[in-house]
Amino acid sequence: MPKLLCANPLCGDEVIPSSPFKHDCIFDGRKWWHLDCFKKTFPNKRIDRWLEKTETYISDNIEKESLYSYLKSEYDLSGLSISLKNKIDAIVHGSVSDQKISYTKLLDMFKYFHNQLADSRDYRRRSNIEGMVVTSYGEPCIRYDLNTLSSKINEYDMKMAFNKSQADQNSRTLSLTSPDMIPFYKEQQYKDMSSGKTIVQNMMDSMWDEIDCSE
Ligand SMILES: [Zn+2]
Repeated sequence: MPKLLCANPLCGDEVIPSSPFKHDCIFDGRKWWHLDCFKKTFPNKRIDRWLEKTETYISDNIEKESLYSYLKSEYDLSGLSISLKNKIDAIVHGSVSDQKISYTKLLDMFKYFHNQLADSRDYRRRSNIEGMVVTSYGEPCIRYDLNTLSSKINEYDMKMAFNKSQADQNSRTLSLTSPDMIPFYKEQQYKDMSSGKTIVQNMMDSMWDEIDCSE
């Protein structure tokens, strides 16, 4: 992919859209912007709607491309057919099962179940039964694996939820010493637009400001 440059003429630095989206840039339908550069250029635009559109664009293009390129290298193909792409789209948009699944999640599932898919593929290849051998190469193999993955969405979700609860538990034991626990004492720096001075504010002060002490 060519470098994407920020459309704000005062910036022009590279924009790197993240996947999953970190809400740090905007695609306006033609050009890319850093979020701050967009805000400065269009102070009155509703940012949330633009971020939403950008998120959809990234999901439909960048995430889709990374899934495609994984499939091409993993299944040794120079390209993917329209009908296979349509099948993938149908899974993503929830018309195969009742669940929608993002391109990124589908890619994660291909990676997560990689060994199982490879074992099954080797088994079909060794079977010497023509109908099974056919499904162990190229696009027929991808289709076979997509069907397998479609039936494993619940298993994958449960495993991910379990991993997350384990990680939360581990981080809870560490959290007392983690710097994330003391954000209130951090100083916040910002520039006062009218004076041009840099103001350092202790966030603890601003917390107190919001509490009504009049009683
Ligand atoms: Zn910029």
